[in-house]
Formats: sequence, C-alpha cells, structure tokens
Amino acid sequence: MCFLVQNNEIVPIIDKCSSFLKLQGVLAWCVCFKEKNPLQITTGNLTVAELSTALLCLVRKVQSVYFTTEIWCIERGQQLPDSINLLTLSPFLDERKILCVGGRLRHSNLPAEQKDPMLIPNNHLICDLIVKHYHFSYLHTGAEATLANIRTKFWIVNGRSKVKRVIKQCIKCLKVSAKGKNQMMQIYLVPE
Ligand SMILES: [Zn+2]
Repeated sequence: MCFLVQNNEIVPIIDKCSSFLKLQGVLAWCVCFKEKNPLQITTGNLTVAELSTALLCLVRKVQSVYFTTEIWCIERGQQLPDSINLLTLSPFLDERKILCVGGRLRHSNLPAEQKDPMLIPNNHLICDLIVKHYHFSYLHTGAEATLANIRTKFWIVNGRSKVKRVIKQCIKCLKVSAKGKNQMMQIYLVPE
C-alpha cells in the first residue's frame, strides 16, 4: 500500500473520497489489484474480508505516521514517555499490528473490537470521514451518541471535541436547527 504515502503523508486517495465507505471500497480494490493477478479480478462485489483488509491497511498506515513514537516504544517493550498524551489509554499493538486502546473493557463480554478500539488521530482526514459516517449512519445523532457508536470500533484522540466540531458543520443538522428556531420565532411573534 505504498501508493498511499507521499512525503510521509497519506493523501492522494483519501483526499478524493467524500465518504468513509467510498474510501474503504477504493482501498479494497487497490488491495485486490496488488495482491491478485489483475486478470483474475472481476467487477463483482467486494467481500467483507477484502473491505476489512483495506481498513486495517489504512489504519496501520495512518497510525505509523501519527503515532510513530508510541509504536516504536511498544514494539521494543519500552515505557511510553510521560509527554505522550495517550498514556491513560494504555495503548498496545494487537496481533494485526494495529494500535488499540487497552485496559478499559478488557474483562467485559463485549466483542474484541469493542473492547480494544483502534486509535485514530483527530487531525487526519480519515477522522472526519469516520465521524461523518457514524453521524449519518445513525440518522444524525447528537455528539454523545455519535461518539459512543464510534467507540464500538475506533477511539479518536480527544474525540468528544472533534465529534462536536464535525457535527456543528453538518448541513442537515444546521437546517433542522434553523427550522426549529424559525418555528419558535413564529410562535412568539403570533399576536395574542
Ligand atoms: Zn447531522
């Protein structure tokens, strides 16, 4: 997946995708072309496994750029420096080499990916796409509900403020909010 990285930044494909699902699909086709004989690839639907592989490749690549120190320390069994603001999240590398949040729900009965969500930086475009994806998929839920849904799979660093910022820019929510305000105004302006 080296085509994803340019000047140590992951831009070319992500910049052109307007949604998280579209991005995952595009990357999955890229993985197919890279790993299979292109002549054997049909135009059929992508499998769940192919989509999952693409997602893991993407997250791994983003993490390798944004959490370089954390990954370096963990791979060598060294303690994370105090300056690392992820310390409280007890990050660890899982068997897929994905940096996950540890400790929170280790002993719960939740599925593995909910116990150990994947860490996502809040200043990368993938983060915006993830927030929008969950906000739209759950019919424009508020910040807390959107955050809770995201955390079933991903853990965004300082996620609460990020989710609030992204939702504040949602056109549909803005329209609904404006409509509600107009209706309130009309109620107050109706002469008695
Ligand atoms: Zn919305």
